[in-house]
Amino acid sequence: MTAPGGPAGQQTVRRHNLGLISTALAAGPSSRAELAQRTGLTKATVSSLVDQLIARRIVVEGEPAATGVGRPARPVQLDPDGPVALGVEINVDYLAACVLDLTGALRCYRHRTVANRSAAPAGILAQVVALAEEVADELGQPLLGGGLALPGVVGADGTVLRAPNLPSLTGTMPGRELAAALGLPELLVDNEANLGALASLRTEPAVGPDFVYVSGEIGVGAGLVVAGELFRGVHGFAGELGHVVVTRDGPACGCGGQGCVEQYAGQEVLLRAAGQPDLERLEAAVAAGDPAALAAVEQAGSALGVGLASLLNVLDLPTVVLGGGYARLFDAITPALAEQLDRRALAPRGAGRLSRSPLGTDAAVRGAAGAVLDRALRDPAGLTGSGASSGSSTPWRTPRTG
Ligand SMILES: [Zn+2]
Repeated sequence: MTAPGGPAGQQTVRRHNLGLISTALAAGPSSRAELAQRTGLTKATVSSLVDQLIARRIVVEGEPAATGVGRPARPVQLDPDGPVALGVEINVDYLAACVLDLTGALRCYRHRTVANRSAAPAGILAQVVALAEEVADELGQPLLGGGLALPGVVGADGTVLRAPNLPSLTGTMPGRELAAALGLPELLVDNEANLGALASLRTEPAVGPDFVYVSGEIGVGAGLVVAGELFRGVHGFAGELGHVVVTRDGPACGCGGQGCVEQYAGQEVLLRAAGQPDLERLEAAVAAGDPAALAAVEQAGSALGVGLASLLNVLDLPTVVLGGGYARLFDAITPALAEQLDRRALAPRGAGRLSRSPLGTDAAVRGAAGAVLDRALRDPAGLTGSGASSGSSTPWRTPRTG
């Protein structure tokens, strides 16, 4: 069906070069000549690779840009109407789903408040499948893959190893079931803080390649990014900031320890101390200058600062990005947090060391879709099999309604 393109070595090189072109285009539209300059490939090679990406619906030609002399250059760009990436998040008190197109633009988003903590896995999955299908089919564009964010530690095979706030999911493989329901060969599954960190890496170049992303939901997690790569640890347990000890004999924690960060700065503890039922109401109380709300946020910030200082002293990372609920409470929580970092973190405090994730509580679900997109752009040939351009053997999930 597909013409053999030469020896295996040549195929590998071509596959690698296709990834070079699509990754270069992630920065924006470009002419073939510019692509040749940026990738170091010849213009003839670039043209041939671009034609292959056009056939795969990854790349599309733009309008010719008149340059004055000679034939106008025709820029190429990633195809916003091509296949899309799905992101899904299961959290303790909500579900979310989104779709990013190949250019990285957010095209669909849904958020649903759901009490998942004591729900059975089958019930959680049924709701998340329904939400994911709704979002996946909305644009009528094929799905190149999906990612799932969870508030827990996920093993390399997608098994939930530890999810103290969603205990029924421990030991399950929700990614496998969701993939089967969606008709996808597999789903990428990772911890919400890791995926929030990846979302920061994709969308906030100013943060740089080395940082700690802190996700402040009901659990407190950290995604560690070192030299532009996520650091997961040997078993996937790296970044468990919520269980760094603040007070050795402090309150008992779900992890079996005592006095962990989560027992002072987790969202439930914070809301209880502030006397507020949810994050929206807490934000409003803080904005209105409510003394109990301000004191609770200050306490949480201080404990988080103590825990983060320990983390920074071990890892020597220059920047902290506050995400999730902490991003929403950023102005109120940072003074106490910064005070503890200044006192306890040994490395000098640089400009922009504490920053607010603009994605807020959407970071993890967007990171889940973004991780799928990044993988696809690094290896676009892997999407449709070697050289398949007829469309007959595409593993993409075609929309059910489109
Ligand atoms: Zn703990």
